[in-house]
Formats: sequence, C-alpha cells, structure tokens
Amino acid sequence: MKVDLAIIGGGGAAFGAALKAEELGLKTVLVHQEDLGGTSLHHGCMPSKFLLEAAWDCWLAGHPRYSSLPPRSPVLDWPALLREKQAMIAHNARLRYQEVLAACPHVRVLNEKAWFEGPGWLRTSSGRIEARATVIATGCSPRSLDLPGTDALQSVLCGPAQAFDFNRLPESLLVLGGGATGLEVAQCFAHFGTWVTLLQSRSRILPAAELEISEALEKRLRTEGIEVVTSVRAKKLGLENGKPVLWADCGMRERKFQAEKIFVAIGMRGRTESLNLAAIGVACDANGYIVVDEQLRTAAPRVYAAGDVAGPPLLEPVAAREGALAVSNAFEEAGASLDYEGIPTAVFTEPQAALVGLTETEALGRGLLCETRVVDLASVTKADLGQRREGLAKLVVEKDGRKLLGFQALAPQAAEFIHEAALAIQQRLTVDDITRLVHVFPTYGEIFRLSALAFKMDVKRMACCPA
Ligand SMILES: Cc1cc2nc3c(=O)[nH]c(=O)nc-3n(C[C@H](O)[C@H](O)[C@H](O)COP(=O)(O)OP(=O)(O)OC[C@H]3O[C@@H](n4cnc5c(N)ncnc54)[C@H](O)[C@@H]3O)c2cc1C
Repeated sequence: MKVDLAIIGGGGAAFGAALKAEELGLKTVLVHQEDLGGTSLHHGCMPSKFLLEAAWDCWLAGHPRYSSLPPRSPVLDWPALLREKQAMIAHNARLRYQEVLAACPHVRVLNEKAWFEGPGWLRTSSGRIEARATVIATGCSPRSLDLPGTDALQSVLCGPAQAFDFNRLPESLLVLGGGATGLEVAQCFAHFGTWVTLLQSRSRILPAAELEISEALEKRLRTEGIEVVTSVRAKKLGLENGKPVLWADCGMRERKFQAEKIFVAIGMRGRTESLNLAAIGVACDANGYIVVDEQLRTAAPRVYAAGDVAGPPLLEPVAAREGALAVSNAFEEAGASLDYEGIPTAVFTEPQAALVGLTETEALGRGLLCETRVVDLASVTKADLGQRREGLAKLVVEKDGRKLLGFQALAPQAAEFIHEAALAIQQRLTVDDITRLVHVFPTYGEIFRLSALAFKMDVKRMACCPA
C-alpha cells in the first residue's frame, strides 16, 4: 500500500495526526494494535476520573461537609460501578473515536501491529506500507518493578489496567509512587474504603509541585487515613504467612508493608520494543522515549514521534497537539514547536493540585529575581460556604514589573481554573492585570486573583468580595 502518511497508534497522538491529515487531504493509514482510543480512554484519564468522581461521592456520604447532614454508610455495588464505567468507555469509544474516524474519508484504519523495515517502509501482519512520512504514536507503558521476589508476586502487582477492573475492592492496597497516578489511585481507593499505604522514594510527594502544595496534600491524605511514607527504598517482595509483603528501608530502619494488592506507579517507559527502530536508525533515551528535536523529528528522515512515546509531559492534550504538529511539520513545512512551559497540569485528588509555569526554585535556578505570595484557601469566601477550606495557592512573579512566572493551587476545582493562570503567564501579564479583572463571586478560582492582590495588601483582612 502506498500512502502519504502512516500513523502507528490509536490514541490521542494518533488522532491528532489523523485529523490534521484529513484536513490536508492526505492519503493516510492509521495502524493500531489495540482498541481505538489508547490509554486515555481505556486505562488512563477517563476511567481514572470516572472512578475518582464516584469515590468522592462515596467518601462524602460518610463524611458530609455540613454537620446538619448526618453521615451515612455508603453501600457500594463495585461490579455495577465497573459496568457503568465500561458503558462510559464504550459510549466514548463510539462517539469520540470510531465515528470521528468514520468521518475522515482520507484515513484508512488497520487494527494490526506495525513495525519498521526501513525509513518509509512499514510491515503489518497483512502487508507492507510505503509512506512519504510516518508518525510514531505508540504511547508508553508503566515501568515495572525490578526487585527480588517480583516474579512470584505477579498476581498481586498491578497497574491501571488491572486496578480499574479489580473483580472486587481490595481490603488493603500498597501504592508505590507519589506522583500524579499514585496519588490519584491512593485517594480513589481510600475513598472507596480500602486501607491504603503510599510509599514514595523521594523526600516528598508530588516533587514537581511547590513544597507548600506537596506538604498540604500529604497532610490531607494522612487526615483521610492514608499512611504516607516518604524517602522509602523498596528492597524485596515476598510472602509471609501466605500474604504479600514488601520490605523497604525507611530512613534508618527497615519496615515491612503488607497489602492484598500492590499498585506500581514508579514511572513510565516509551513503548517502542516491537517497532524495530534499529531498521531506521532511531534511538531512545535512557527512559525508553524516542529522541526527537523541537519539531518532533526523529533521526530518520520524515519519521516523526508524537505523544507519550516522545517523552514527558505525558498528557492527553499534549499528545493530540503533538500529533497534529508532526503532520503539519511534515507536510506544511510549518517548522512549529510547542511551548511546553506554558502547559498546565493537574492532579485530580480532592482537593485538586494544578500547576503551571515555574516554581520558585525553578525561577531562582534560572537566575530570575522573583517574589512569591502564598494564600490560604480559607481566605476565599467560596471555601467557607462550601465547607472545603483546606488548600492554598502560590504565585511566583518577577521582582521587576511583577510579570507572572508560575502559579500553583491546591483547591477544589483547581484543574478548572488553572487555565486563567496559564493564559496570564503565556501573555506575560502582570499582577495589576489580574487584580483589575473582576472575577465571578463566589468561586474557588478567586484564589488566583487573591494571590495577585496579596502583593498589595493583606488578603486575610478584606471584605468578602475585594475591590
Ligand atoms: C492512570 C492514568 C491516568 C491519566 N490521567 C490523565 C489525565 O487526567 N489527564 C491527562 O492529560 N493525561 C492523563 N494520563 C496520560 C494520558 O493517558 C496519555 O498522555 C495519553 O493517553 C497518551 O496518548 P498517546 O497517543 O501518546 O499514547 P496511547 O494513548 O498510549 O496510544 C498508544 C497507541 O499505540 C498503539 N500501538 C503501540 N504499539 C503499536 C504497534 N507496534 N503497532 C500498532 N499500534 C501500536 C496502541 O494500540 C495504542 O493505541 C493518564 C495516564 C494514566 C496511565
């Protein structure tokens, strides 16, 4: 088969590429080896957020926000919840993936594995493809544990693909990893009633966040009953009295942790092993991600990589944007690249952590003179009336001119209001620009304006709707 463009993958990056190719009228083949929709639809963003939302309802039933509402013991029908989740996935698979491709007459879809025979030459189980350009969009896979005893405990170890389909809720869960996935999974299962312990190798959870955010989130998880242990070095796995155990060094002493299931969220690796990249002379970095330049070009002529397989940030909207950008660079000679620093991210815990731009440490590391303000969520009227006061925000600005450099919030709905900060940072706005904008009252998002106001006044002593 001869085509203009071959896309390997069926997730966000592949779809970004396919839709751009359709717009340009390119004869395209999209080859994917699993169900359409990739990680986001099947084991990532969508099932995890579905379960987190359900878990929050479950938690609220037993921990109502208002003392006038008596707590109830939630009766959870886990198998029924999983059926609802599957129905949500099936609905979205049809609506957002199958029907979208069906409306792309230039894109042919093959449900097969693909690998390289040479630059521009692909092999699939049904034949050969010759393409003027190729986009590799094969995603990434969870990094596996490499500890003595791992092999004997394969049925206990799990990642998102297994945990979001447990045939029953585990009584106890050990989560390895204090990044976004580990934190979300830990709180999700804890809210459902599982006894959760979270082990983090670094000295704090969510190391990408400001220290204040990490510490406040850790405190919140602890108050909900999750045991959080930091600076842990896992040593070996085994069975004791027939039960799974992990031995670890925790500072000066060894501890053992026992749980029915062990969720491994210790990082990801690019998914390239089946692609035969050696045939096209394309290299991967130490973490298994394909090495690309700013325009997403690999070392092979007219072969691009987009999405998770090209390395962090590992985010669905980034994958989609990169897929489109690779096609644009290949066929429109756009020479375009993404501004990765302006991309907001969020951790969908309760409260949510949302981050954009530089942290204070990063700004100082770049030799920027900066000022910061930290505002407690308790200063926000909505937090008071919504009885959700735990959280804070931190704003980092340049000392001269007070242009925004970075903003982080730990607050309900922070993932919804982080975009205002992202746009403000991207547009190089100042503290004055933010304070001038009248914000909707009462909202959790007012914490962004209060963080800017905090450069001018004491926001703890203000009317509920500060002018
Ligand atoms: C638990 C979890 C929660 C997440 N939550 C969020 C979130 O809230 N927000 C967010 O933005 N991101 C989130 N992510 C990340 C997000 O899911 C990914 O960034 C995104 O799915 C990456 O898309 P992709 O197209 O690069 O790869 P994928 O979606 O993984 O797609 C890879 C595709 O390649 C195909 N493939 C692989 N090898 C071959 C081959 N040899 N031949 C043919 N096809 C092949 C596969 O079939 C698959 O279709 C989450 C991830 C996880 C695991």
